[in-house]
Amino acid sequence: MAFVIDGKKISTEIKDETKEKVAQLKAQGKEISLAVVQVGDNPASCVYVRNKKKACEYVGIKSVSHELPEETTEAELLDLIDKLNNDDSINGILVQLPLPAHMDENKVIDAISPYKDVDGFHLMNVGALSTGQQGFISCTPYGIIQLLKRSNIDIAGKHCVVIGRSNIVGKPMSMLLLRENGTVTIVHSKTQNMKEITKQADILVVAIGKPKFVDDTYVKEGAVVIDVGINRDENNKICGDVDYDKVFDKVSAITPVPGGVGPMTIAMLMNNCLEAATKIQK
Ligand code: NAP
Repeated sequence: MAFVIDGKKISTEIKDETKEKVAQLKAQGKEISLAVVQVGDNPASCVYVRNKKKACEYVGIKSVSHELPEETTEAELLDLIDKLNNDDSINGILVQLPLPAHMDENKVIDAISPYKDVDGFHLMNVGALSTGQQGFISCTPYGIIQLLKRSNIDIAGKHCVVIGRSNIVGKPMSMLLLRENGTVTIVHSKTQNMKEITKQADILVVAIGKPKFVDDTYVKEGAVVIDVGINRDENNKICGDVDYDKVFDKVSAITPVPGGVGPMTIAMLMNNCLEAATKIQK
């Protein structure tokens, strides 16, 4: 029987800690502001943006909305980012992805000041993570490290296998586990004999985007399984990349979906906004 890692509880702890520090800053006359930029009205993005604004409200961070129409040009978006970069009242800038197809996402992300890049996607922050320097850390992998630490799961010396190599989850996850002294292997869609590798994992992080892909044949007895996936199953119910019921009796700890990694992403975004106003300085 596995220990269920409660992302809802841990994310609330982190938001409450952030809320307290935000209140302390407010008492000193400093308000934290996050600019939230959304282009178009992708339904999933609308939900994410709404949840991020709700979290801002909860912790006491001011969210400043910029809702732009789908037909906004890249130049217009870059112009807005430039204004926000130079606006001292704005601490963090979040551009909700995906952007419409006529925009170059990398160009837009790299236009955000690295000192306001609370998503941790800017090349300078990615480089800082890779070289062990201070910078913003991408929220989902950062949240997973917090889940492990706050559940007293040691990373140092453990074989950590990450399935998936995306820029927002797999790659930064691997760098963070390495930073925590894990021995890290990354597998992806071109990996041969994947199960042989995943079955060696003490900690298995799954970020592929395929419903219930990982079953008990992929995991070692007693492994810790972190399921990043957010998918819909055949009954349109939210499910992860891991077949929870099949692996549950084999593993020592597991994150549920929903209620595992998902809530951590927003909690770490709030943490990054606080860092933007305190730790990360030009
Ligand atoms: P992504 O950009 O589509 O990347 C998926 C990765 O999985 C790729 O590296 C791909 O390999 C690999 N992959 C696909 N099929 C595979 C297979 N059969 N065997 C091995 N590897 C395979 O996805 P993502 O953005 O990382 O997201 C992954 C999942 O996490 C999605 O369900 C997403 O919704 C979820 N997510 C959740 C949160 C959260 O807050 N909880 C945040 C972000 C993402 P190649 O590189 O070789 O193509």
